[in-house]
Amino acid sequence: MTNKPDLLGMTPEEMEEALGRHFSVRGQPRYRAEQVRRWVLDGLAPSFDVMNNLPREERTALAEAFSLTEPACTVVSRSSDGTVKHLWRLEDGELVESVLIPTYDRLTLCISSQAGCAMGCTFCATGFGGLRRNLTAGEIASQYRASQRWAEEEGLGRISNVVFMGMGEPLANRKALFPALTILNQGYGLGARRITVSTVGLVPGILELAQRPEQFRLALSLHAPESGLRRTLVPLEDRYPLSEVVAALRAFDAAGGKRITLEYTLIRGVNDHLDLAGKLAELAFDLKAFVNLIPFNPIPYQDWRPSPRDRIQAFATILAERGVAMAVRESRGRDIDAACGQLRASALSGGAPAGVASPPGPAPDASPGDQSLANPAPDASPADLPEGREGA
Ligand code: SAH
Ligand code: SF4
Repeated sequence: MTNKPDLLGMTPEEMEEALGRHFSVRGQPRYRAEQVRRWVLDGLAPSFDVMNNLPREERTALAEAFSLTEPACTVVSRSSDGTVKHLWRLEDGELVESVLIPTYDRLTLCISSQAGCAMGCTFCATGFGGLRRNLTAGEIASQYRASQRWAEEEGLGRISNVVFMGMGEPLANRKALFPALTILNQGYGLGARRITVSTVGLVPGILELAQRPEQFRLALSLHAPESGLRRTLVPLEDRYPLSEVVAALRAFDAAGGKRITLEYTLIRGVNDHLDLAGKLAELAFDLKAFVNLIPFNPIPYQDWRPSPRDRIQAFATILAERGVAMAVRESRGRDIDAACGQLRASALSGGAPAGVASPPGPAPDASPGDQSLANPAPDASPADLPEGREGA
């Protein structure tokens, strides 16, 4: 790993300072820092070499003083439904994933905050591998940068939304998450309301995020509206029980009317009893939260299946009847293992990544068009869903 300070891991303020110092020592005019900032943040320049409005010796000096470290793309998998997954290799060889999800009016990027995850949720491929390490702010934000350049080259346009629903628990890596949020928001110009942090319920992190002045959005991976059942899916429930998580969500909401989404992955016979739909509706109504119902995406370590389509619909109807804003996330990207951690899992096991090798067949309960969704955009209103998707 290089020891040079990485410009991509700096907030715009830090970058300005570091570049200002650099150019002042070299006796260069002040505007050089602004030139470089533009190249890095607006131009997504992959190297100092392309910064052709700077003298050649200044480009060389920049390359000696700083790095621009982007993850290297090792696999690109394209789903038949337009979802694109990148597997990135970090400098030390760790692998993380991000997913681009185009819909008709937006391009959502789902990014990773950790290599692996320590939370051990029993339905999640990433959870089974444990935590390998935290990503740095630069490694988080660079997934956006590298994906945006890729999207431009492929004619997909601008990424409109970023969700932290790839690998890892973002609020367990706040040291890097918080500057990464600033970099995405102030550096790359993504509106705070277009950035969603998804958490399994780390209370201190929710409270800290609530203190941020920006309107970042929060998604809670709920998966069960009662503590006993939730504990079997989300081990963190033991440490931060639902009552405390809900209190933290209220604090988040109270800190400026910030929007909350509840994620509920429907697993057949596990958390899809219709009594639970009533309880979920109560909780969501109370919190004025938006609910995403997500069909479980089967993983190699469990024989669970997604809930049948009619059960998902019945769940949705109960929520809608009780006035809860919600969407059923039609499945995306199953043929490329778009569930969090799955592409990495197949790369590590030596198997060809799905989408290249034969894709997993549809779950018995899934209709032929029902591709499994793993990394949904949580803040799409039902009207945003493309034709053929369910929504309420
Ligand atoms: N750690 C954070 C963010 C990453 S997980 C969190 O848990 O919220 C992103 C989302 O993918 C979460 O809502 C998680 O519950 C969901 N997820 C993980 N494995 C899944 C699977 N096999 N099927 C469907 N959703 C899954
Ligand atoms: Fe970690 Fe989220 Fe997976 Fe749970 S669902 S193991 S918190 S990545």
